[in-house]
Formats: sequence, structure tokens, C-alpha cells
Amino acid sequence: MKKVAFYTLGCKLNFSETSSIGRMFEQKGYQKVDFSNAADIYIINTCSVTENADKKCKKVVREALKISPEAYVAIIGCYAQLKPKEISEIPGVDAVLGAAEKFQLIDLLDGFMKKEKPQVFASEIAEANTFNHAHSIHDRTRTFLKVQDGCDYSCTFCTIPLARGNSRSDSVENVMNGAREIAQTDVKEIVLTGVNIGDFGIQHGDRTERFTDLVKALDGVEGIERFRISSIEPNLLKDEIIEYVSKSKRFVPHFHVPLQSGSNKILKQMRRRYQRELYVDRVSKIKSLMPHCCIGVDVIVGFPGETDEDFLETYNFLNELDVSYLHVFTYSERANTKAIDMPGVVPHKVRNERSKMLRNLSEKKRRKFYEENLGTTKTVLFEDDVEEGMMHGFTENYIRVTAKYDPLLINELKSVSLKKINAKGTVEVEEIEAAFVAH
Ligand code: SF4
Repeated sequence: MKKVAFYTLGCKLNFSETSSIGRMFEQKGYQKVDFSNAADIYIINTCSVTENADKKCKKVVREALKISPEAYVAIIGCYAQLKPKEISEIPGVDAVLGAAEKFQLIDLLDGFMKKEKPQVFASEIAEANTFNHAHSIHDRTRTFLKVQDGCDYSCTFCTIPLARGNSRSDSVENVMNGAREIAQTDVKEIVLTGVNIGDFGIQHGDRTERFTDLVKALDGVEGIERFRISSIEPNLLKDEIIEYVSKSKRFVPHFHVPLQSGSNKILKQMRRRYQRELYVDRVSKIKSLMPHCCIGVDVIVGFPGETDEDFLETYNFLNELDVSYLHVFTYSERANTKAIDMPGVVPHKVRNERSKMLRNLSEKKRRKFYEENLGTTKTVLFEDDVEEGMMHGFTENYIRVTAKYDPLLINELKSVSLKKINAKGTVEVEEIEAAFVAH
């Protein structure tokens, strides 16, 4: 029985796809092993957004060959789609598969026999027009379920449309079937994943359904306690979705909404489809219906043309906004994007300073959000991790809590009282009730 190992770089979507490809191998009789174990085949799922994608890819290849010098190495994923030739030249790489081919890799690579030259299967991105279902399972307490792929937007800093193609989705019915299948396992939480999931509903180039249809349908799936929406563009986060989530049985009060900049000038240059006023409106709408809702924000610093004033505008905007944490990205130039040719390049030192300022602001925001929730009762899904005798979990509104390790709590939903924030910035809980609590 041949052994296969996987390594995933990048986002939840990649994680779900690696997991599904792993199951395809198992169905064909391969044995899946940890990356640190000797394997006959290594599959590396790459990312184009990751900083130094090429260096990271090379490093993982080297590591794989250190463990198994004769192993077959295949590279898939976004970076493989963008730079197939460069990747095929990395010493030790046997195959490169692009977006349209990665799900066919077992058939295409035909027994994984090493050839004289690396095999490259990467067609034009327009060929990546089918939707391949994917979800992670048994890898974590929660499952990432892919519902959408690709993006029709053209943000000037982003390579994802080039790496993943046009927007396309699974059908509501298929997603429901996927969720029901997951419900047969012991998974309690599903995170809906995609590139631009608010744009859900396009099949074969036509819009047939909407994201709201999906949310409403999934809310009725028995056996899954929680659904979390991974990230949704502010212009697609419609009132109807917010209102539905506020009354939902299963969708948790947590939204992650990319902002990218608090300056309208920069938003325009980024070709984002909203201005800051819309973002304020979305946050107010959420908070008016769900005061304890967690709101996460993606923000980019150092975009070309971002002056000190523009950055301060972003800083002050976020400082005043009732949001719970920030994911801060330092702008970095990407080949084949519009932004790379824009004037006003921000020196790296300045980019790093700005990033640091926003990271500090994020900590302040997170602490304030946690403080606002102290004294309340929340439901925690405990995870399978132990650190110095303590375990962790997340509340429905994404507060990270800690409790004394108890193996019986793993993957259980428990009602807890949020007591205090400890030195590590996580919330200590008390009075964990023995009874199962449906959220
Ligand atoms: S919405 Fe913009 S940033 Fe997000 S994937 Fe599409 S092009 Fe990239």
C-alpha cells in the first residue's frame, strides 16, 4: 500500500481541498500519513497570497525529500496555477497541477512513477470552470465546507481570480447533502468556506441561487450545532442575511468582513466595491440586532499611494468602529496585478510600522470585546488541544476561552460563564455545566 502525505499552505479553502483530495487517495487504496512520516508521495497544496510563496514551496519540497529522498512530489494549488514553470524547476518536483487539474491528480499522474522530466498540467485559468466539492473532516473539531470558488471581482492587489478563476458555486442542494453527511460524524461546527462566498449561487456562468437561500436552507440541517460564515464582502452582506442570522438557530453571531482600507481614496484605487460609509452601516446593522456579535476585519497597510494621512484615516476609522479584532496584511507586490504598477510605493519600513500599529489596535479591540462579554453565559466548543494542563475553545461569538484540561470536554458544547481575561489574553471560564447545551 503506497503512503501519501500532504502539506497545506494558505487558507481554509486550501485546507478543505487538501482534506478532500486526501480522502480520494484513501478511496483508491493509498494510506494517508502525517507529513513528518516517510511517504511514497508528497502532495503540497500551495497559496499565492502567502508571503514568499516560492521560498515556502521550496522549503516544503526540501523537507519532504529529507524524510523520503526517493518520494514522488506533486505541487498543486494557487501558486502552482500562477507559476507552473518556475515550480517545475524546483529540484525534486515531479509534477505540477493547476486549478483545473488538481482534483484529477490521481488519474493524471498514473501510478506516481517518476519521469525524466517533471510533468506539468496547468491549463489557462478560464478552463477552471467546474465546481469541485470539498470539506475537511476529522482533522479538526470544526469542518471547513467549501461552498463557492473563484471570484469575478478585480481588486487591484489580488491574484486570486488569476489563480482560481471565475466565481462558481455548489448548489444549495449539494451543500445540504454535504452538511448532512458531515452531521453523520461527530463534527459540531461547520465553517462555510469559499473565495467570495457572498457571491454564492453562480453555476455554469448563470446565477441560479443566492447566499441567503443557502443560509436559510442550512439552518434547518439537523445534527450540526453551529454554522459559521468564514468571510463575506461588506457589499454582499445584505440586511436579509444579518437579520436571518440574528434569529437563526444555528448560524453563530460572528462575521468576518474585509475592509482593506478606511480611506475612500485607497478603496477606490483597490477597486473595492464600497466606500467606508457602507462599512459603518453594516457594522451598525449587525450591532443593532446582535450587540454581542463578533466582527473581524481584514485590512491591508502600505498599498501604493497610501500616505501617512490615508493610513491615519484608516487607523482612526477602525479605532472608532465597534469591531472585535483585525487581521492585518502588509501589502506586498504580486506579479500580474494592477497595483504593482501604481505610483506611490510605500517603503517596507513604513509598511511594517503601520502593520505594527494596527496589530496593537487589534489587541486593544479584542480585549475590549472580551471585557464587554465578561459575566455573560456563552456556549463553548472545546477543542482537542492541551497546553500546560489547559484546553481551549471558542464561544459562538468567537471568544477564545480556556479551562482545565478534561478529555471529556473535547468536541463538546458546554455552557460556561466568562469570568476573567488571563495574562495570555484568553478568557477563563467557570461553572462548566455537565449538561449538553444546544446553542
Ligand atoms: S473580492 Fe477582491 S480580494 Fe477578494 S478574492 Fe475577489 S478579487 Fe481578491
